[in-house]
Amino acid sequence: ESITVKTSSKQYPVFIGKQAIDTLPNFIESHVSKANKILIITDEKVATLHLEAVQAVLAATGKQVFTHIVPQGEYAKTFDVYYECQSYCLSQQLNRKSLIIALGGGAVGDLAGFVAATFMRGIPFIQVPTTLLAHDSAVGGKVAINHPLGKNMIGAFFQPEAVIYDLNFLATLPEQELRSGFAEVIKHSLIADRDFYHWLMTNIQDLTKITDEQFFKMIKRGIEIKAAVVEEDEKENGVRAYLNFGHTLGHAVEASMGYGKFTHGESVLIGMVYALKLSQKKQQLVFEYNSFVEWVQALGYRTTIPKHLKIEQLLQLMKTDKKSVTNSATFVLLEQVGAPLLAEMADEDLLNEMANFIER
Ligand code: NAD
Ligand code: ZN
Repeated sequence: ESITVKTSSKQYPVFIGKQAIDTLPNFIESHVSKANKILIITDEKVATLHLEAVQAVLAATGKQVFTHIVPQGEYAKTFDVYYECQSYCLSQQLNRKSLIIALGGGAVGDLAGFVAATFMRGIPFIQVPTTLLAHDSAVGGKVAINHPLGKNMIGAFFQPEAVIYDLNFLATLPEQELRSGFAEVIKHSLIADRDFYHWLMTNIQDLTKITDEQFFKMIKRGIEIKAAVVEEDEKENGVRAYLNFGHTLGHAVEASMGYGKFTHGESVLIGMVYALKLSQKKQQLVFEYNSFVEWVQALGYRTTIPKHLKIEQLLQLMKTDKKSVTNSATFVLLEQVGAPLLAEMADEDLLNEMANFIER
């Protein structure tokens, strides 16, 4: 099964399913047939779990296949690792026609995509996501590495040739990574699709017991929602900002905890609970807030700000978040489930509400 993502710069398919990687050789043959060399970029953990399966499938292409393994998580998104990747490409004499395959979660996708975007001014790449979170990161064309002064600060808009989402890979994900990815699924439902939101609440009660059919549905719908937003606004001048729902406070919490303490999605979930409360107060959102909080707590999410964090500091971080355009913090709020809007929030309102969210 495939979804087509259309942007002004490119149109590409997203294949989702068990054994979706079996579509790789055909896809390469029909769309990137000139690729003389293929480079798989993956991380240390994914390499031990799923690299062989991908190498086996690629052997059928008869092309020369190389593999470069990088550290896990944010450690992959550094200048040093980026430089090593470029050195590897040059030393193996990859060229304008070569193809890069990003095999891993969002970190590997962001790194490998940025390597592809910049090696010889851009060579084709294919995303092969292995995390639930990557339903978000693999679609949309944002690729980046981090700078010590800010996450994702060095990057590009660069669309892949295809996204090949093999659901078999998700079976090895630890629960905390499922929780991180599922927060973005919840986000997509809240900003765009009330029925999908109710379906999630009714059907997903335990992240370790998600069936293949359920994974399929949540990834497909999540990607459709993200793709629709990106199609409308590839370069983030308008509606793409809605995808930042929960991220303003989420990023501030994630950064001030120190990366790695909370996963991205766990931090964003705290940000969403907060944004929902603000939406009730400022936009008269009608929402069963208590059932939402009970549901996500049962799934293992925290819904409060850790008490050692200072709300004044969080406020400063929110205001310097790259998404904010003026001196006040711009927030994505909901008028209704499925109907987001942007609102400038006064410092005082943000601080007062944060005070209610500090863990007791
Ligand atoms: P990740 O790539 O760091 O993966 C998380 C962890 O799971 C890593 O330790 C990884 O080794 C491990 N892992 C991956 N696949 C696995 C599998 N199948 N089984 C077991 N373990 C596995 O990150 P992520 O959580 O997927 O994504 C987070 C990153 O994505 C962040 O860097 C964030 O900035 C980026 N992101 C980008 C966009 C975008 O639009 N480009 C959007 C959202 C997030
Ligand atoms: Zn996110």
